[in-house]
Amino acid sequence: MTNLENLSNIPIGKELYIVETGDWKVLTPFIQLNKCNLCGICELYCPTGCMFENEKIVEINMQYCKGCGICANVCPTSAIEMRAEK
Ligand code: SF4
Ligand code: SF4
Repeated sequence: MTNLENLSNIPIGKELYIVETGDWKVLTPFIQLNKCNLCGICELYCPTGCMFENEKIVEINMQYCKGCGICANVCPTSAIEMRAEK
């Protein structure tokens, strides 16, 4: 169980990795790089802060992605497709 008193010192937003939510997924986001313009909106809205730009590509740390689909919904170029976990 998480000690709530310790959470007060953790900055909200990026790198807020408390729970490994990767196992929760029933859908997995896939980024179609040919459609991505690196606008950064998905990174901004991702609730777990698990999306990041690396060498001109948006990557996802699947250990913390919970498959919520918010990134796909906010992407202005429909570059992110949610696929069912197998
Ligand atoms: S599906 Fe949700 S948790 Fe996973 S990368 Fe997209 S916004 Fe973040
Ligand atoms: S919101 Fe879409 S276009 Fe913008 S960086 Fe994310 S995947 Fe790329």
